[in-house]
Amino acid sequence: MIQKERIKPLNDEQVQNKEQIFYWMQASQRVNYNHALEFAIERANKLNKSLSVFFVLNTDFPEANLRHYQFMLEGLKEIREKLEKRNIKFKVFLGDPEDIVTKIAENSALIITDRDYLKTTKKWRKNIAENINCPLVQVESNLIVPVEEASPKEEYAAYTIRKKINKKLDYYLEELEKRQIKHPSVNKEFNFSNKLENENITKYFKNNNLAELTQKLDIDKSIKPVSHYKGGEEQAKNYLYDFITNKLDKYHELSNDPTKDYLSHLSPYLHFGQISPLLVALEIKEKYSPGQEEFLDQLIIRRELSFNFVYYNKDYDQSLKSILPDWAYTTLEEHKNDLREYIYSQEEFEKAATHDKYWNAAQKEMKITGKMHGYMRMYWAKKILEWTPSPQDAFEISLYLNNKYSLDGRDPNSYAGIAWCFGKHDRAWKERKVFGKTRYMNANGLNRKFAADLYVQQIEQLTEKKNSN
Ligand code: FAD
Repeated sequence: MIQKERIKPLNDEQVQNKEQIFYWMQASQRVNYNHALEFAIERANKLNKSLSVFFVLNTDFPEANLRHYQFMLEGLKEIREKLEKRNIKFKVFLGDPEDIVTKIAENSALIITDRDYLKTTKKWRKNIAENINCPLVQVESNLIVPVEEASPKEEYAAYTIRKKINKKLDYYLEELEKRQIKHPSVNKEFNFSNKLENENITKYFKNNNLAELTQKLDIDKSIKPVSHYKGGEEQAKNYLYDFITNKLDKYHELSNDPTKDYLSHLSPYLHFGQISPLLVALEIKEKYSPGQEEFLDQLIIRRELSFNFVYYNKDYDQSLKSILPDWAYTTLEEHKNDLREYIYSQEEFEKAATHDKYWNAAQKEMKITGKMHGYMRMYWAKKILEWTPSPQDAFEISLYLNNKYSLDGRDPNSYAGIAWCFGKHDRAWKERKVFGKTRYMNANGLNRKFAADLYVQQIEQLTEKKNSN
């Protein structure tokens, strides 16, 4: 079922008298459980037109580097194969999405797109909607409860959004059936594509040669791809079913222990839209397990709270003053001039060159694997707050490092997760130096929770393995 609340026309244009309609895939990079794709098929069938799907590969995307592009392209390659099996043509164009979508709109009866929540991609949609002569219709598929339906305002914390989301869950936790396309487009050419195509990306997909493609792209290549995660829907599904079979029943007990692997590892896939959170939730609900409630709370409440934050707070990546609740901002300001025992520069943090072996291990984990364990993420950003000259510096350094090295970086969860370490969505605690009333974490706390030295050893082994390769 595609709930009508997921569908939003972004302009007032009329359907044009053209042969084809298009789905501009951007945020929901998947074929399975994609409401925008299924809606596009419905519309094409109803209008008796064919549907093609395209993606615009933008090499200037803020903060994206080779690590992210490689992962995304692995997913796009798979999408092409899966759409072909459904008789639907898929093409990737290289360039500026605003230019390319506007040109495609000249040959389109209608364009469907999916929904994203951050500045750059929201602006693309707004500008395109204003500049084209056919309808641009947005279908929201990366949240279980659409963002405005969950709440009409920025929420204070998980406990305030939880009851609002829970009230609507039954309506939105609905299966999504695959539609059959009536008019296959798979053998059709985009008749205008030679005007748009400056690089034949399909060729690299067909030859399975993504390394050659990324080499040619004018992107930041300073951060290498990781071997730990390969992009794509199939990998995402493997992680999901492995998690359900082997980890879910202990998730509530062991997900905070970085020495044990009891996480789903779905965040990179969710970030690129390579797996649907709705599919994940439905599959998790299928199997009763003691870890189910805790996991669904993270996936639905915590994750959708992050989207609420970036959607309603346009400064989500800017100044702490406009992000934090008054108590948190005031207390951090009051303690801004407290003497710091250690001060590190961004470069020292980046090189994992602090005095703290636990912090350094966490930073190395992120650099090597493309993801840091969730529990260590909290400790990591809390210590950046403790060891930088000001909270605002700490916020900026945390975002910079998180988004540069993490495959799941640049996500609503990145901004909310880091802001949480400065008091967002949290409550006041006992007052102390530097942290004020924001929650404090220290190395003794890590040792009480899990074998922190074992974690350091495990990361050292990872580092040695990487260096010997
Ligand atoms: P699992 O524990 O298996 O969780 C499954 C899913 O639930 C996650 O993929 C995620 O979508 C959601 N989830 C879990 N924990 C949280 C949480 N605390 N807040 C919101 N959603 C959650 N998450 C990112 O996706 N990208 C980031 O860049 C990111 N940066 C963070 C930075 C800091 C400082 C902190 C404290 C948290 C950050 N998080 C981020 C949130 C969380 O740590 C990750 O979502 C989680 O570690 C991802 O790993 P997983 O999918 O294996 O988690």
